[in-house]
Amino acid sequence: MQIDKNSLSLLLLGKRMKRILVSGGAGFLGSHLCERLLNEGNEVLCVDNLFTGRKVNVHHLMDNKRFEFLRHDVTFPLFVEVDQIYNLACPASPVHYQFDPVQTTKTSVIGAINMLGLAKRLKIRILQASTSEVYGDPEIHPQPESYKGSVNTIGIRACYDEGKRCAETLFFDYHRQHKVDIKVMRIFNTYGPRMHPNDGRVVSNFIVQALRGEDITIFGDGMQTRSFCYVDDLIEGMYRLMNSRPGFTGPVNIGNPGEFTMLELAEKVLQITGSKSKLKFLPLPQDDPMQRQPVIDLAKKELGWEPKVQLEEGLTKTIAYFKQAIS
Ligand code: NAD
Ligand code: UDP
Ligand code: UDP
Repeated sequence: MQIDKNSLSLLLLGKRMKRILVSGGAGFLGSHLCERLLNEGNEVLCVDNLFTGRKVNVHHLMDNKRFEFLRHDVTFPLFVEVDQIYNLACPASPVHYQFDPVQTTKTSVIGAINMLGLAKRLKIRILQASTSEVYGDPEIHPQPESYKGSVNTIGIRACYDEGKRCAETLFFDYHRQHKVDIKVMRIFNTYGPRMHPNDGRVVSNFIVQALRGEDITIFGDGMQTRSFCYVDDLIEGMYRLMNSRPGFTGPVNIGNPGEFTMLELAEKVLQITGSKSKLKFLPLPQDDPMQRQPVIDLAKKELGWEPKVQLEEGLTKTIAYFKQAIS
Protein backbone atom coordinates (compact mmCIF):
# COMPACT_ATOMS: atom_id res chain seq x y z
CA MET A 1 0.00 0.00 0.00
CA GLN A 2 1.29 3.48 -0.97
CA ILE A 3 1.21 6.03 1.83
CA ASP A 4 2.11 9.71 1.54
CA LYS A 5 4.38 11.58 3.96
CA ASN A 6 1.64 13.60 5.71
CA SER A 7 -0.51 10.48 6.26
CA LEU A 8 2.48 8.59 7.66
CA SER A 9 3.32 11.31 10.20
CA LEU A 10 -0.34 11.38 11.28
CA LEU A 11 -0.34 7.61 11.71
CA LEU A 12 2.83 7.88 13.80
CA LEU A 13 1.17 10.56 15.93
CA GLY A 14 -1.70 8.14 16.45
CA LYS A 15 -4.30 10.38 14.74
CA ARG A 16 -6.92 8.50 12.74
CA MET A 17 -7.48 9.85 9.30
CA LYS A 18 -11.16 10.40 8.43
CA ARG A 19 -12.81 10.07 5.05
CA ILE A 20 -14.92 13.21 4.77
CA LEU A 21 -17.60 14.02 2.21
CA VAL A 22 -17.90 17.69 1.22
CA SER A 23 -20.97 18.33 -0.95
CA GLY A 24 -20.54 21.53 -2.95
CA GLY A 25 -16.79 21.03 -2.52
CA ALA A 26 -15.85 22.67 -5.84
CA GLY A 27 -17.56 25.95 -4.88
CA PHE A 28 -16.13 29.02 -3.18
CA LEU A 29 -16.43 27.89 0.46
CA GLY A 30 -16.28 24.16 -0.32
CA SER A 31 -12.89 24.39 -2.01
CA HIS A 32 -11.38 26.18 1.01
CA LEU A 33 -12.92 23.56 3.29
CA CYS A 34 -11.51 20.65 1.22
CA GLU A 35 -8.08 22.25 1.46
CA ARG A 36 -8.37 22.66 5.24
CA LEU A 37 -9.53 19.06 5.76
CA LEU A 38 -6.68 17.70 3.62
CA ASN A 39 -4.21 19.85 5.59
CA GLU A 40 -5.53 18.22 8.78
CA GLY A 41 -4.58 14.85 7.27
CA ASN A 42 -8.03 13.60 6.21
CA GLU A 43 -9.25 12.01 3.01
CA VAL A 44 -11.76 14.19 1.15
CA LEU A 45 -14.53 13.11 -1.19
CA CYS A 46 -15.65 16.26 -2.99
CA VAL A 47 -19.16 15.82 -4.45
CA ASP A 48 -20.33 18.55 -6.82
CA ASN A 49 -22.43 18.87 -9.97
CA LEU A 50 -20.40 21.94 -11.06
CA PHE A 51 -23.51 24.14 -11.36
CA THR A 52 -21.77 27.15 -9.82
CA GLY A 53 -18.58 25.41 -8.69
CA ARG A 54 -15.57 25.01 -10.93
CA LYS A 55 -12.90 22.35 -11.35
CA VAL A 56 -10.29 25.11 -11.30
CA ASN A 57 -11.18 25.72 -7.61
CA VAL A 58 -9.91 22.24 -6.71
CA HIS A 59 -7.39 21.80 -9.52
CA HIS A 60 -4.49 22.22 -7.09
CA LEU A 61 -5.87 19.35 -4.95
CA MET A 62 -6.24 16.82 -7.78
CA ASP A 63 -2.69 15.45 -7.37
CA ASN A 64 -3.25 14.76 -3.68
CA LYS A 65 -3.80 11.01 -3.19
CA ARG A 66 -6.23 11.75 -0.35
CA PHE A 67 -8.51 13.88 -2.56
CA GLU A 68 -11.24 12.49 -4.79
CA PHE A 69 -13.71 14.40 -6.98
CA LEU A 70 -17.13 12.97 -7.84
CA ARG A 71 -19.44 14.77 -10.27
CA HIS A 72 -22.88 14.15 -8.81
CA ASP A 73 -26.14 16.03 -8.18
CA VAL A 74 -27.21 15.70 -4.52
CA THR A 75 -30.88 15.62 -5.49
CA PHE A 76 -30.14 11.97 -6.44
CA PRO A 77 -29.29 9.33 -3.82
CA LEU A 78 -25.64 8.64 -3.15
CA PHE A 79 -24.26 5.44 -1.70
CA VAL A 80 -20.67 5.87 -0.48
CA GLU A 81 -18.78 5.03 2.71
CA VAL A 82 -17.53 8.07 4.67
CA ASP A 83 -16.97 9.14 8.32
CA GLN A 84 -18.38 12.69 8.22
CA ILE A 85 -20.42 14.93 5.92
CA TYR A 86 -20.31 18.68 5.35
CA ASN A 87 -23.41 19.59 3.30
CA LEU A 88 -22.62 22.75 1.32
CA ALA A 89 -24.21 21.94 -2.05
CA CYS A 90 -26.46 24.85 -3.08
CA PRO A 91 -25.95 27.97 -5.19
CA ALA A 92 -25.49 30.92 -2.82
CA SER A 93 -25.60 34.06 -4.95
CA PRO A 94 -29.08 35.53 -5.62
CA VAL A 95 -28.34 35.65 -9.37
CA HIS A 96 -27.47 31.94 -9.37
CA TYR A 97 -30.19 30.65 -7.08
CA GLN A 98 -32.86 32.62 -8.97
CA PHE A 99 -31.67 31.23 -12.34
CA ASP A 100 -33.47 27.89 -11.72
CA PRO A 101 -35.46 28.43 -8.50
CA VAL A 102 -37.16 25.01 -8.58
CA GLN A 103 -33.78 23.29 -8.76
CA THR A 104 -32.57 25.52 -5.87
CA THR A 105 -35.35 24.30 -3.57
CA LYS A 106 -34.80 20.70 -4.72
CA THR A 107 -31.09 20.99 -3.98
CA SER A 108 -31.70 22.27 -0.45
CA VAL A 109 -34.58 19.95 0.43
CA ILE A 110 -34.00 16.70 -1.50
CA GLY A 111 -30.24 17.20 -1.19
CA ALA A 112 -30.61 17.44 2.61
CA ILE A 113 -32.82 14.32 2.68
CA ASN A 114 -30.24 12.31 0.72
CA MET A 115 -27.30 13.52 2.79
CA LEU A 116 -29.25 12.89 6.02
CA GLY A 117 -30.25 9.43 4.75
CA LEU A 118 -26.58 8.70 4.15
CA ALA A 119 -25.63 10.00 7.63
CA LYS A 120 -28.43 7.92 9.18
CA ARG A 121 -27.34 4.69 7.45
CA LEU A 122 -23.69 5.21 8.38
CA LYS A 123 -24.41 6.66 11.87
CA ILE A 124 -22.08 9.59 11.22
CA ARG A 125 -21.96 13.30 12.00
CA ILE A 126 -23.30 15.77 9.44
CA LEU A 127 -22.98 19.56 9.25
CA GLN A 128 -25.43 21.76 7.37
CA ALA A 129 -24.32 25.03 5.75
CA SER A 130 -27.43 27.06 6.57
CA THR A 131 -27.62 30.80 6.17
CA SER A 132 -28.50 34.16 7.69
CA GLU A 133 -31.18 34.19 4.95
CA VAL A 134 -33.35 32.08 7.28
CA TYR A 135 -33.89 35.43 9.07
CA GLY A 136 -35.20 36.94 5.79
CA ASP A 137 -35.57 40.74 5.97
CA PRO A 138 -35.13 40.86 9.76
CA GLU A 139 -37.35 42.96 12.02
CA ILE A 140 -34.90 42.73 14.91
CA HIS A 141 -31.32 43.85 14.77
CA PRO A 142 -28.73 42.36 15.23
CA GLN A 143 -29.96 38.78 14.78
CA PRO A 144 -29.51 36.14 17.51
CA GLU A 145 -30.19 32.45 16.77
CA SER A 146 -33.49 32.68 18.70
CA TYR A 147 -34.96 35.08 16.10
CA LYS A 148 -37.42 33.12 13.94
CA GLY A 149 -37.14 35.27 10.83
CA SER A 150 -39.31 37.14 8.37
CA VAL A 151 -39.39 35.54 4.93
CA ASN A 152 -41.79 36.31 2.06
CA THR A 153 -42.78 32.75 1.15
CA ILE A 154 -43.89 33.74 -2.36
CA GLY A 155 -41.05 36.13 -3.21
CA ILE A 156 -38.11 35.59 -5.55
CA ARG A 157 -35.66 34.86 -2.70
CA ALA A 158 -37.93 32.21 -1.13
CA CYS A 159 -36.53 29.31 -3.21
CA TYR A 160 -33.28 29.80 -1.31
CA ASP A 161 -34.57 31.04 2.06
CA GLU A 162 -37.40 28.52 2.42
CA GLY A 163 -35.26 25.70 1.00
CA LYS A 164 -32.66 26.39 3.68
CA ARG A 165 -35.34 26.74 6.38
CA CYS A 166 -36.85 23.38 5.39
CA ALA A 167 -33.37 21.82 5.39
CA GLU A 168 -32.89 23.02 8.99
CA THR A 169 -36.25 21.43 9.89
CA LEU A 170 -35.15 18.15 8.28
CA PHE A 171 -31.86 18.22 10.17
CA PHE A 172 -33.64 18.65 13.51
CA ASP A 173 -36.27 16.00 12.69
CA TYR A 174 -33.63 13.45 11.63
CA HIS A 175 -31.86 14.30 14.90
CA ARG A 176 -34.99 13.86 17.06
CA GLN A 177 -36.50 10.95 15.13
CA HIS A 178 -33.42 8.99 13.99
CA LYS A 179 -30.73 10.25 16.42
CA VAL A 180 -28.59 11.60 13.61
CA ASP A 181 -25.63 13.59 14.98
CA ILE A 182 -26.18 17.07 13.47
CA LYS A 183 -24.49 20.48 13.47
CA VAL A 184 -26.30 23.45 11.93
CA MET A 185 -24.37 26.60 11.01
CA ARG A 186 -25.99 29.87 9.95
CA ILE A 187 -23.45 31.53 7.68
CA PHE A 188 -23.52 35.31 7.19
CA ASN A 189 -22.15 36.97 4.01
CA THR A 190 -18.69 35.58 3.37
CA TYR A 191 -16.12 36.72 0.80
CA GLY A 192 -12.61 35.93 -0.34
CA PRO A 193 -10.49 34.35 -3.06
CA ARG A 194 -12.26 31.87 -5.42
CA MET A 195 -15.57 33.71 -5.45
CA HIS A 196 -16.77 33.46 -9.04
CA PRO A 197 -16.02 36.76 -10.87
CA ASN A 198 -19.52 36.68 -12.43
CA ASP A 199 -21.46 35.35 -9.48
CA GLY A 200 -23.26 38.64 -8.93
CA ARG A 201 -22.59 38.99 -5.21
CA VAL A 202 -21.76 42.45 -4.02
CA VAL A 203 -18.10 41.95 -3.03
CA SER A 204 -17.11 40.22 -6.28
CA ASN A 205 -19.18 42.68 -8.37
CA PHE A 206 -17.64 45.80 -6.81
CA ILE A 207 -14.07 44.46 -7.01
CA VAL A 208 -14.35 43.30 -10.62
CA GLN A 209 -16.04 46.57 -11.64
CA ALA A 210 -13.37 48.65 -9.87
CA LEU A 211 -10.50 46.68 -11.42
CA ARG A 212 -12.02 47.00 -14.92
CA GLY A 213 -12.80 50.70 -14.47
CA GLU A 214 -16.52 50.00 -14.98
CA ASP A 215 -19.33 51.72 -13.03
CA ILE A 216 -19.93 50.35 -9.52
CA THR A 217 -23.55 49.14 -9.44
CA ILE A 218 -25.25 50.24 -6.21
CA PHE A 219 -28.71 48.71 -5.80
CA GLY A 220 -31.21 51.09 -4.15
CA ASP A 221 -29.69 54.01 -2.22
CA GLY A 222 -26.80 51.86 -0.96
CA MET A 223 -27.83 52.38 2.68
CA GLN A 224 -28.72 48.70 3.20
CA THR A 225 -26.17 46.89 5.37
CA ARG A 226 -24.37 43.55 5.43
CA SER A 227 -21.71 42.10 7.75
CA PHE A 228 -18.86 40.54 5.80
CA CYS A 229 -16.78 37.61 7.04
CA TYR A 230 -13.45 36.65 5.45
CA VAL A 231 -13.34 33.05 4.20
CA ASP A 232 -10.47 31.87 6.47
CA ASP A 233 -12.41 32.92 9.58
CA LEU A 234 -15.54 31.22 8.28
CA ILE A 235 -13.77 27.91 7.59
CA GLU A 236 -12.23 27.97 11.07
CA GLY A 237 -15.73 28.38 12.55
CA MET A 238 -17.09 25.58 10.40
CA TYR A 239 -14.29 23.22 11.40
CA ARG A 240 -14.74 24.04 15.07
CA LEU A 241 -18.48 23.47 14.88
CA MET A 242 -18.06 20.07 13.21
CA ASN A 243 -15.66 19.08 16.00
CA SER A 244 -17.67 20.63 18.85
CA ARG A 245 -18.88 18.72 21.90
CA PRO A 246 -21.40 15.89 21.42
CA GLY A 247 -24.95 17.13 21.89
CA PHE A 248 -24.24 20.66 20.67
CA THR A 249 -26.35 20.90 17.52
CA GLY A 250 -26.58 24.66 16.96
CA PRO A 251 -28.02 26.44 15.06
CA VAL A 252 -25.10 28.78 15.51
CA ASN A 253 -24.40 32.07 13.74
CA ILE A 254 -20.98 32.34 12.12
CA GLY A 255 -20.18 35.75 10.70
CA ASN A 256 -18.32 38.97 11.30
CA PRO A 257 -20.37 41.50 13.32
CA GLY A 258 -18.65 44.45 11.54
CA GLU A 259 -21.61 46.00 9.70
CA PHE A 260 -21.26 48.23 6.61
CA THR A 261 -23.59 49.97 4.16
CA MET A 262 -23.09 49.11 0.48
CA LEU A 263 -21.90 52.68 -0.06
CA GLU A 264 -19.20 52.20 2.58
CA LEU A 265 -18.18 48.93 0.94
CA ALA A 266 -17.94 50.63 -2.48
CA GLU A 267 -15.79 53.40 -0.97
CA LYS A 268 -13.40 50.88 0.58
CA VAL A 269 -13.06 48.94 -2.66
CA LEU A 270 -12.38 52.16 -4.61
CA GLN A 271 -9.82 53.27 -2.05
CA ILE A 272 -7.89 49.96 -1.97
CA THR A 273 -7.92 49.45 -5.76
CA GLY A 274 -7.22 53.13 -6.48
CA SER A 275 -9.91 52.85 -9.17
CA LYS A 276 -11.60 55.87 -10.78
CA SER A 277 -14.89 53.99 -11.31
CA LYS A 278 -18.08 56.00 -10.79
CA LEU A 279 -21.10 54.91 -8.76
CA LYS A 280 -24.21 53.95 -10.73
CA PHE A 281 -27.52 53.60 -8.85
CA LEU A 282 -29.89 50.80 -9.95
CA PRO A 283 -33.27 49.67 -8.53
CA LEU A 284 -33.23 47.61 -5.35
CA PRO A 285 -34.18 43.96 -6.09
CA GLN A 286 -37.44 42.63 -4.59
CA ASP A 287 -37.26 41.51 -0.92
CA ASP A 288 -33.63 42.64 -0.56
CA PRO A 289 -32.95 42.61 3.21
CA MET A 290 -32.27 46.13 4.56
CA GLN A 291 -29.92 45.11 7.36
CA ARG A 292 -28.03 42.12 8.59
CA GLN A 293 -25.64 41.60 11.50
CA PRO A 294 -24.94 38.44 13.48
CA VAL A 295 -24.97 38.06 17.25
CA ILE A 296 -22.04 35.67 17.77
CA ASP A 297 -22.18 35.12 21.55
CA LEU A 298 -23.07 31.44 21.10
CA ALA A 299 -20.12 30.78 18.73
CA LYS A 300 -17.80 32.54 21.20
CA LYS A 301 -19.08 30.48 24.13
CA GLU A 302 -19.40 27.04 22.50
CA LEU A 303 -16.64 27.15 19.91
CA GLY A 304 -14.25 29.75 21.35
CA TRP A 305 -14.57 31.35 17.91
CA GLU A 306 -14.61 34.92 16.72
CA PRO A 307 -13.47 36.44 13.43
CA LYS A 308 -9.95 37.86 13.23
CA VAL A 309 -9.75 39.37 9.74
CA GLN A 310 -11.21 42.86 9.43
CA LEU A 311 -12.79 44.13 6.22
CA GLU A 312 -9.83 46.11 4.83
CA GLU A 313 -7.37 43.25 5.27
CA GLY A 314 -9.79 40.72 3.77
CA LEU A 315 -10.64 43.00 0.84
CA THR A 316 -6.95 43.58 0.13
CA LYS A 317 -6.36 39.80 -0.13
CA THR A 318 -9.51 39.31 -2.23
CA ILE A 319 -8.58 42.16 -4.58
CA ALA A 320 -5.12 40.60 -5.08
CA TYR A 321 -6.84 37.32 -6.06
CA PHE A 322 -9.23 38.97 -8.53
CA LYS A 323 -6.39 40.99 -10.14
CA GLN A 324 -4.77 37.74 -11.21
CA ALA A 325 -8.04 35.80 -11.80
CA ILE A 326 -9.55 38.24 -14.31
CA SER A 327 -6.36 39.37 -16.04
P1 NAD B 1 -20.97 28.38 -4.41
O1 NAD B 1 -22.05 28.62 -5.37
O2 NAD B 1 -19.58 28.83 -4.78
O3 NAD B 1 -20.88 26.85 -4.02
C1 NAD B 1 -21.97 25.97 -4.05
C2 NAD B 1 -21.50 24.65 -4.64
O4 NAD B 1 -22.60 23.72 -4.65
C3 NAD B 1 -21.04 24.79 -6.09
O5 NAD B 1 -19.80 24.15 -6.27
C4 NAD B 1 -22.15 24.12 -6.90
O6 NAD B 1 -21.71 23.59 -8.13
C5 NAD B 1 -22.62 23.07 -5.91
N1 NAD B 1 -23.99 22.59 -6.17
C6 NAD B 1 -25.09 23.34 -6.38
N2 NAD B 1 -26.16 22.55 -6.59
C7 NAD B 1 -25.72 21.27 -6.46
C8 NAD B 1 -26.35 20.00 -6.57
N3 NAD B 1 -27.65 19.88 -6.81
N4 NAD B 1 -25.57 18.89 -6.41
C9 NAD B 1 -24.24 18.98 -6.16
N5 NAD B 1 -23.60 20.16 -6.06
C10 NAD B 1 -24.33 21.29 -6.20
O7 NAD B 1 -21.41 29.06 -3.03
P2 NAD B 1 -20.65 29.20 -1.63
O8 NAD B 1 -20.59 30.63 -1.30
O9 NAD B 1 -19.41 28.40 -1.62
O10 NAD B 1 -21.72 28.54 -0.65
C11 NAD B 1 -21.56 27.24 -0.11
C12 NAD B 1 -22.67 26.95 0.88
O11 NAD B 1 -22.65 27.91 1.94
C13 NAD B 1 -24.07 27.02 0.26
O12 NAD B 1 -24.85 25.99 0.81
C14 NAD B 1 -24.57 28.37 0.71
O13 NAD B 1 -25.97 28.39 0.81
C15 NAD B 1 -23.90 28.52 2.07
N6 NAD B 1 -23.76 29.94 2.42
C16 NAD B 1 -22.82 30.72 1.83
C17 NAD B 1 -22.75 32.07 2.16
C18 NAD B 1 -21.70 32.97 1.57
O14 NAD B 1 -21.74 34.17 1.84
N7 NAD B 1 -20.77 32.51 0.79
C19 NAD B 1 -23.64 32.62 3.09
C20 NAD B 1 -24.61 31.78 3.64
C21 NAD B 1 -24.65 30.44 3.32
N1 UDP C 1 -29.93 7.67 0.89
C1 UDP C 1 -28.77 7.88 0.19
N2 UDP C 1 -27.65 7.17 0.58
C2 UDP C 1 -27.64 6.33 1.66
C3 UDP C 1 -28.86 6.15 2.36
C4 UDP C 1 -29.99 6.84 1.96
O1 UDP C 1 -28.70 8.62 -0.77
O2 UDP C 1 -26.60 5.75 1.93
C5 UDP C 1 -31.13 8.40 0.45
C6 UDP C 1 -32.27 7.47 0.14
O3 UDP C 1 -32.31 7.26 -1.24
C7 UDP C 1 -33.51 8.19 0.65
C8 UDP C 1 -32.97 9.34 1.48
O4 UDP C 1 -31.55 9.20 1.52
O5 UDP C 1 -34.20 8.74 -0.42
C9 UDP C 1 -33.49 9.35 2.88
O6 UDP C 1 -33.13 8.16 3.53
P1 UDP C 1 -34.02 7.59 4.69
O7 UDP C 1 -33.37 6.34 5.17
O8 UDP C 1 -34.29 8.63 5.68
O9 UDP C 1 -35.41 7.33 3.98
P2 UDP C 1 -36.04 6.08 3.28
O10 UDP C 1 -34.94 5.39 2.51
O11 UDP C 1 -36.57 5.27 4.40
O12 UDP C 1 -37.08 6.70 2.40
N1 UDP D 1 -25.73 44.73 -4.24
C1 UDP D 1 -25.39 45.94 -4.84
N2 UDP D 1 -24.75 45.89 -6.05
C2 UDP D 1 -24.39 44.73 -6.65
C3 UDP D 1 -24.74 43.50 -6.02
C4 UDP D 1 -25.42 43.56 -4.82
O1 UDP D 1 -25.66 47.02 -4.32
O2 UDP D 1 -23.79 44.77 -7.73
C5 UDP D 1 -26.42 44.77 -2.93
C6 UDP D 1 -27.67 43.89 -2.84
O3 UDP D 1 -28.80 44.63 -3.27
C7 UDP D 1 -27.70 43.57 -1.36
C8 UDP D 1 -26.24 43.55 -0.94
O4 UDP D 1 -25.52 44.23 -1.98
O5 UDP D 1 -28.36 44.60 -0.65
C9 UDP D 1 -25.67 42.14 -0.78
O6 UDP D 1 -25.96 41.43 -1.95
P1 UDP D 1 -25.40 39.95 -2.22
O7 UDP D 1 -26.05 39.48 -3.47
O8 UDP D 1 -23.91 39.95 -2.16
O9 UDP D 1 -25.87 39.09 -0.97
P2 UDP D 1 -27.25 38.92 -0.17
O10 UDP D 1 -28.27 39.92 -0.67
O11 UDP D 1 -27.68 37.53 -0.43
O12 UDP D 1 -26.87 39.19 1.23
